Amino acid sequence: PPLSMGDMVTDSALAHPDAIMIDFMGRKFTYAEVFGQIKRIACGLQAMGVKKGDRVGLYLPNTPHYVAAYYGALMAGAIVVNFSPLYTAAELEHQVEDSGTKILFTLSAKALLPTALKVLDHSSLEQLVVGSVAEMLSPVKSLLFRWFKAAETAALPHDPRVLRYDKLIANPGACVVADINPVEDIALLQYTGGTTGTPKGAMLTHQNLTANARQAQVIDPHANEPDRIIAVLPFFHVFANTCTLNRTVLNGGEMVMLPRFDAAQVLAAVQRVKATSLPGVPTMFQALLDHPAIRNIDFSSLRACISGGAPLPLEVRQRFEEATGAKLIEGYGLTETSPIVCTNPYEGLNKTGTVGQPVPGTRVKIVDREDPTKPPPPGEPGELLFAGPQVMKGYWNRPDADAEVFMGDFIRTGDVGEIDEDGYVRIVDRLKDMISVGGFKVFPSQVESVLYHHPAVKEALVIGVPDHYRGEQPKAFVTLNDGFEIDDEALKAWLNPQLGKHERVKAVEVRLTLPKTLVGKLSRKELVAEERAKAA
Ligand code: ATP
Repeated sequence: PPLSMGDMVTDSALAHPDAIMIDFMGRKFTYAEVFGQIKRIACGLQAMGVKKGDRVGLYLPNTPHYVAAYYGALMAGAIVVNFSPLYTAAELEHQVEDSGTKILFTLSAKALLPTALKVLDHSSLEQLVVGSVAEMLSPVKSLLFRWFKAAETAALPHDPRVLRYDKLIANPGACVVADINPVEDIALLQYTGGTTGTPKGAMLTHQNLTANARQAQVIDPHANEPDRIIAVLPFFHVFANTCTLNRTVLNGGEMVMLPRFDAAQVLAAVQRVKATSLPGVPTMFQALLDHPAIRNIDFSSLRACISGGAPLPLEVRQRFEEATGAKLIEGYGLTETSPIVCTNPYEGLNKTGTVGQPVPGTRVKIVDREDPTKPPPPGEPGELLFAGPQVMKGYWNRPDADAEVFMGDFIRTGDVGEIDEDGYVRIVDRLKDMISVGGFKVFPSQVESVLYHHPAVKEALVIGVPDHYRGEQPKAFVTLNDGFEIDDEALKAWLNPQLGKHERVKAVEVRLTLPKTLVGKLSRKELVAEERAKAA
């Protein structure tokens, strides 16, 4: 039966009050302790006037504040809005206005508070609730915590619009748990990455999120046995929200929280807490493999690592499994589907190069790339569509965008794929990234996969750049593996003869780094913007 987020966290806290829910830099919090904070936040927000459907924002890294504020706001009946802690003031303001966020949780960190205060003065935001890392740690631990910028605090102004987190949770007050219809009521406004146009808020209902946490069980059916999961993927992103946070809470497991990705810290944490699980994006697993400490870590506790968000190169999976003895399982999804729609299983056939089968309760359909009302030509890949309890209710205030993505119960993904004889889905490319070369469609991933065959190439991104005659032409950007050297022209001379006429790149640019999103995906969008700025 459909479940609200408040009921999910309440059931879990009542079932195992003394189990550890959070390990934050070695400080442990039980389910009962965190649930106490969640209830006080729910009451505190209601006392501040929050009504059902009001928007409460989280502008927080992974600290215990996030967990308490998230479930607290949901129990109060609010809609949570996730904000990336790396947002600039302009990005923060835009999303505050678009969502109509009235209250924003943040930290007194130099990296966050000044930006939040600026937006408080220039937007419809009414109130900030400000926590501090120190209130969650002992003084000694706070010092150890220097490597994370959030430990450097900014001064809190005396302003009635700025409330301290500890004040909010100090006053229990009287409060009524909001009456939630899990199927209808929105729990989360999750803004999409925006690789394609302006960010849109995907409306994820309580049922979307709890259903997807349950569906994720197929990834690792042992996750309800004593499970310790490394929570380093940022919670503001939907992958971590479901895979690391909600799924762990559903199972009564422990989240070992790290507010910033640092390969050495992640490896040390795996050994320190005897972690059983590590969800991440492919570039994270690559970075762990590149770190020399990986050879000295005891991985015997580690069972299932989950990769999603971008294609997992075969070589990364093989090397990671050899180095750790754990399974690295690939899944697939998008913000609009809470996110998981497909995954390989922990037990059973883990098919490399595929993203596995649709999770329980999910239907898949393939349509023609050009005309979604038709099936694709026989034997050809097509656009993937999915239906299931995890599919969003729609985009916030964007009926025009809804009309583009919904086809009956199904949602269009903008991804091109195929389904094999065992029902496993293979992602071929993204319609959203297609380059139009004189009217011919070129998929960047086809060019990228050729580049990855060169031993020197570590990372590759191909984008369309303006071309006088053809409108657009592909250009490749790469970084190199340690100890390798090759120049732009030599790599281009190696690459182009292997490509079709329209796929041939205008140039190759060898770089020291490529832009990445906060979750660590290679950022095509940022690269496109850089190139546009250069051209202008
Ligand atoms: P935007 O919202 O602008 O489209 P985005 O596509 O990065 O940005 P997300 O919802 O964060 O938005 O990511 C979903 C996309 O990520 C999918 O549509 C797909 O293209 C890609 N993706 C996710 N998992 C995988 C995977 N395992 N293999 C290949 N691609 C994947």
